[in-house]
Amino acid sequence: NENKDKLDSDQKHLLDQVVTTTEQLRVLVEDLLNASKIEKGVINVNFEVADYIYTTADTIDLFRQKANQKNIEFEFDNTGLANTKIRIDKVRINEVMSNLLSNAIKYTDSGGKIKVWIDVKDNQLITHVADTGKGINPQVLSSIFHKFVRGVGPLDQSIKGSGLGLYIAKSIIEMHHGQIWVQSELGKGSTFSFSLPL
Ligand code: ADP
Repeated sequence: NENKDKLDSDQKHLLDQVVTTTEQLRVLVEDLLNASKIEKGVINVNFEVADYIYTTADTIDLFRQKANQKNIEFEFDNTGLANTKIRIDKVRINEVMSNLLSNAIKYTDSGGKIKVWIDVKDNQLITHVADTGKGINPQVLSSIFHKFVRGVGPLDQSIKGSGLGLYIAKSIIEMHHGQIWVQSELGKGSTFSFSLPL
């Protein structure tokens, strides 16, 4: 970072683009590997009893920063959920969280808002990720968790993605015997929710 100060603004811009492209490639390679492992039934899940808030705190913080960088307000409400222990694969649940949060940021314009909250209901821990973004076309909504399905709007073409993230998220949640679903209204926003048995 001290070397970054020696660059002029064009060079900094270029460097930022390289960093972004590299990150997109990393996510793509990871998604392809995960999807392929799911198909083969060889994806490994390592369950352990963990504190849910503590487990997801770093991911929430990282995406809070990314949201704020894009001038998106970010609210996290975990009231009433101190010390909730749950049997999960910590790495995999953070992958699901990362996917939902990165989508919320990707598909929400600057000035929008993301809200994350957690409910406990009927022995299920339910995490909600809501955004005030572009929403999902009703035509693709029912297949949005299928692999390679992407929004069809012309706007989406400029937003990079493989259409694998939600497929992987659904697979991971089902391995935990939970469910994942979405409510969305075009032009208004989307709320993705997933449940995990307590
Ligand atoms: P990707 O984002 O790589 O295309 P995903 O599987 O993560 O793939 O998502 C599939 C599609 O669902 C996206 O292409 C996008 O059209 C839509 N989508 C996902 N999350 C959101 C969201 N929060 N708001 C609007 N559309 C979304």
